[in-house]
Amino acid sequence: MYLPDFDYYAPQNLEEACSLLTHLGSKAKVLSGGTDLMVKMKHGVISCEVLVSLKELNELKEINYHQGKGVVVGARATHNDLVNSIILNEKYLSISEAAHHMASNQIRNIGTVGGNIVNAVPSADLPPILIALGATLTLVGPEGERTIPLEEFFTGPGRSVLAQNEIVTFITIPNQPTTGSNYIKFGLRRSGALAVIGVASAVTMEGNIIKDARIALGAVAPVPMRAKEAEAILIGKEYTDDLLEQAGVAASKECSPISDIRGSVEYRRDMVRVFTKRSLKAAITKGHSGEHLETAHSNNI
Ligand SMILES: Cc1cc2nc3c(=O)[nH]c(=O)nc-3n(C[C@H](O)[C@H](O)[C@H](O)COP(=O)(O)OP(=O)(O)OC[C@H]3O[C@@H](n4cnc5c(N)ncnc54)[C@H](O)[C@@H]3O)c2cc1C
Repeated sequence: MYLPDFDYYAPQNLEEACSLLTHLGSKAKVLSGGTDLMVKMKHGVISCEVLVSLKELNELKEINYHQGKGVVVGARATHNDLVNSIILNEKYLSISEAAHHMASNQIRNIGTVGGNIVNAVPSADLPPILIALGATLTLVGPEGERTIPLEEFFTGPGRSVLAQNEIVTFITIPNQPTTGSNYIKFGLRRSGALAVIGVASAVTMEGNIIKDARIALGAVAPVPMRAKEAEAILIGKEYTDDLLEQAGVAASKECSPISDIRGSVEYRRDMVRVFTKRSLKAAITKGHSGEHLETAHSNNI
C-alpha cells in the first residue's frame, strides 16, 4: 500500500502556515508527526492533496514554565518529550506517565501532543489527564489567537471546534493548588493497546476534606468527558473509601460508552466504576503520581 502523491510545504513561521492553509482550503492538512495522518492517507481514509508541515516551527516543540501562568507545552512536543520533560516530571508526573504508556517507543518519538488532541479520538490518552488538570488550548488562525478550555475543544469523534485554517500552538496547564492527579489507562495488553477506558482525576485536599475534584473519562463517550455528577458527590466531603466508591458508581452511570471489539457497554461502565475509585485514591494519597497502566490480565478481570 503506497502513499498517494501530495504537495508539501514547510512554512518558516505561523503566519505563513495559516495563510497557506487559508489559500489552499480543504485540500490541505496540517502535518505534525504524521503517525495518524500518514496511516489514514495510505489507507485512503482521507484524501489530501497538500501537506503543510509544522517541522520548522521550533517554538512549538518547547515545554516551559511561565511564572504566573503555568506549564506551557508546545503542540509539537512529542510523547517522549512529555515523558522526559524535567518540568513535567517535577510538577505533573501524571502527564509524563500517561505519555509513557502510549503506543511504542518509535511512535512516542514522533507522535505529538497537538496531533493527539486534534485527532479527537475518544480513546486518546492525553486529553483526559489534561482536562482533569484544567488545561487550555491556544489556537492561531489568520484572524489571530484564541484560547479555549481543552474540554470545550471536542465536538464528536474526529471533530472539534478547530477551523480548517487554524493551528493548535500551545497547551497550558494552569498553576493550581491541586494535591494530586492521576491517569489510569485500562487496556487489554501492557503495550501498544488503545484504552478500553481511561480515567483521570485531579483532587485538592484540605486535611481530610476534598476541597475540589475533577474527573475526566476517555473512551466512554463520543468525546473525552468530565464526570461532573461524580465530582459533586466528592466536593466538601471527608475522604473515605465508601465516598470514592459512590463517585465511581456515579461516573459509571453518567458516561455513555458503546460496545466494540475492546469491550461491551456493561464492561466499560463497570471498569469506569473500578478505575475512578482507584484513580481518585491515587490522586489523594500519592500526589501527581504515575500509577497508570492497568490491563485485564494484571487485574484478573
Ligand atoms: C501504532 C500506533 C499506536 C498508537 N497508540 C496510541 C496510544 O496508545 N494512545 C493514543 O492516544 N494514541 C495512539 N496512537 C495515535 C497517535 O500516535 C497519536 O494520536 C499522535 O499523538 C498523533 O500525533 P501526530 O503528531 O503523529 O499527528 P499527525 O498524524 O501529524 O496529525 C493528526 C491530525 O492532527 C492534525 N494536527 C496535528 N497537529 C496539529 C496542530 N498543531 N494544529 C492543527 N492540526 C494539527 C493533522 O492535520 C491531522 O488531522 C497510536 C498510533 C499508532 C500508529
